[in-house]
Amino acid sequence: MASELDNAKLKEAASILQKAKAAVAFTGAGISVASGIPDFRSPGGLWTKYDPFEVASAHALEHNPRKVWEFLLDTVDLLERSQPNPAHFALADLEKGGQLAGVITQNIDNLHQRAGSSLVIEYHGNFQRFYCQNCFMNLPEQEVLTQCSQSIPVWCPSCGGLVRPDVVFFGEAIPTRAQQESIQLLKAADVLIITGTSGEVAPANVLPRQVKLSGGKIIEVNLGNTYYADITDVRFDAPAEQVLPRLADMVCDQ
Ligand code: ZN
Repeated sequence: MASELDNAKLKEAASILQKAKAAVAFTGAGISVASGIPDFRSPGGLWTKYDPFEVASAHALEHNPRKVWEFLLDTVDLLERSQPNPAHFALADLEKGGQLAGVITQNIDNLHQRAGSSLVIEYHGNFQRFYCQNCFMNLPEQEVLTQCSQSIPVWCPSCGGLVRPDVVFFGEAIPTRAQQESIQLLKAADVLIITGTSGEVAPANVLPRQVKLSGGKIIEVNLGNTYYADITDVRFDAPAEQVLPRLADMVCDQ
């Protein structure tokens, strides 16, 4: 419960944020669980229903596009039913209040943008954008959804190539632009809020360490054990949707 949060710790984190020249948030799947999107890897997540190699890899796109699109329809359905939660709104409020420079997210759910965050760097793309993997033409989401309600897979109206979501599939590289933009943002960052990501895999195990190494402070909001114990300055073992709104209120009210 929010009332059980450690007030002294909240004050300490708020004070760090208030003194920051450029604070950045780094988010992962955990921040969207309260929005009704289970972590793909957790029980009830999409990877308990699908084999990622068969539905979300370059190999699958080439060899079984229909199966990829069956999975995409399920995912679109899940994302359409989700809403930003208080944690997403709190980060948007911090940005509007001039207390947060931007968000770097590993999520593809578009919930930061829907909550009102304007600078959002998407490490793994965004499920609401689609393009043709042959001619690279972008296709409006609505057009794609209309098409896939009639038949799947969806083919490009211009060249007949396969249409795919603008997300990073297994075996694919992180978009260069996202990498460069996050490096730029983190170069200037003197505080990093890590939330919803445990630091087990890249980029989550790399980016926060860069901020710490250059003398920045780390505020962590994560449930359970993570790989950040050695770099965290203030840590909340509590859900983001409870901690971040309290923190945003304290910081923005000053
Ligand atoms: Zn095309």
